[in-house]
Amino acid sequence: MNIHEYQAKQLLAKFGVPVSKGIACKTADEAGKAYTDLGVPLGVVKAQIHAGGRGKAGGVKLVRSADEAHKVAANLLGKALVTHQTGPEGRVVKTIYVEAGSDIEREMYLAIVMDRGAQAPVIIAAKEGGVDIEELAEHRPEAIARHRVHPVKGVQAFQLRALCKHLGLHGEQAKAGGKLIAALVQAFMALDCSLAEINPLIVTTQGEVKALDAKMSFDDNALFRHKDVLELRDVNEEDPKEVEAKKFDLNYIALTGNIACLVNGAGLAMATMDVIQLKGGMPANFLDVGGGANKTQVTNAFKILLSDANVKGILVNIFGGIMKCDTIAEGVIAAAKEVKLTIPLVVRLEGTNVDLGRKLLQESGLNIQAASSLDDAAEKIVKAIKA
Ligand code: GDP
Ligand code: MN
Repeated sequence: MNIHEYQAKQLLAKFGVPVSKGIACKTADEAGKAYTDLGVPLGVVKAQIHAGGRGKAGGVKLVRSADEAHKVAANLLGKALVTHQTGPEGRVVKTIYVEAGSDIEREMYLAIVMDRGAQAPVIIAAKEGGVDIEELAEHRPEAIARHRVHPVKGVQAFQLRALCKHLGLHGEQAKAGGKLIAALVQAFMALDCSLAEINPLIVTTQGEVKALDAKMSFDDNALFRHKDVLELRDVNEEDPKEVEAKKFDLNYIALTGNIACLVNGAGLAMATMDVIQLKGGMPANFLDVGGGANKTQVTNAFKILLSDANVKGILVNIFGGIMKCDTIAEGVIAAAKEVKLTIPLVVRLEGTNVDLGRKLLQESGLNIQAASSLDDAAEKIVKAIKA
């Protein structure tokens, strides 16, 4: 799960990461008033969407009066902001963050990510910030410092010193920088983050070190123990199909192809997607209905797949172990009838109660192609959507 910049800053501030004062607003009037309430000469009006690259896209503007703050906010609110991270359709701006402006001396990059390879969080730092870190990693990897955080001992003093040195922070600034990095690590660990990124981390002309931007992502599987974080969820920013799938405990991820897949088990779902591509098709989604899905879950899974306008055909691939093939068949039939299925549907069933499952499908009167293997199923659906 991701959250907005202003929410991330509020969380990080609690752990001791220095950030500027700011006020989140829903209307241009509120934004004008927020500027006045902050009582600072320089303000920054920032569009709140779950994507970066806002600065270059016109979503971050410096303002010097309440009128200006009002005008900029009015221009942003209710419109789609297109950045290099949003895709061509952009994201509609519903919240504006008005922040006390900083006088920037220089910008740096700081982040912590959960690194599966390192089996630990890894701190990433670069002296040049506000930049595209992926680009820097590709062209000048030596500009990026990496430090693995020990999962038990946490970040070590020598690591903080090395990181500050790499960032070009000395004296008082290094002290402040070390504290900030340690606070970020604490927040990352305490909140079960998968990512905490500060781009840019800045030194102000007054010599303060602070987070000018903040992005945080959380491990969905740990959210049950962070009710306060879960409250920050903004479903407006999420794919409605994925939101719906979560309600029914389905593991669904939307993709860009046109063949919908309904599969039980994550491994089988991955294999199914691979074989579809091997046969020249493109999967529209990853969907694992789980090992013990019931008829309601299957029906809803089917409806979610069909709510994707790109979908031209469906491949159901079920290995009935814990899951019974007749349960799947019942769900598929119920859903297909309810949504008046018109696109091709290929079903491959194997395992517990497979004969009963196949019989139910045959007798349903629906236009379903049965497949004898995964290979056969993928070939059939790829052919069917081209027909
Ligand atoms: P992003 O483009 O979505 O990553 O948004 P950021 O919050 O990183 O802001 C983009 C850029 O706007 C920063 O890199 C800064 O150069 C600039 N910016 C943001 N806040 C301030 C501020 O308080 N003062 C000044 N002078 N520039 C700012
Ligand atoms: Mn940024």
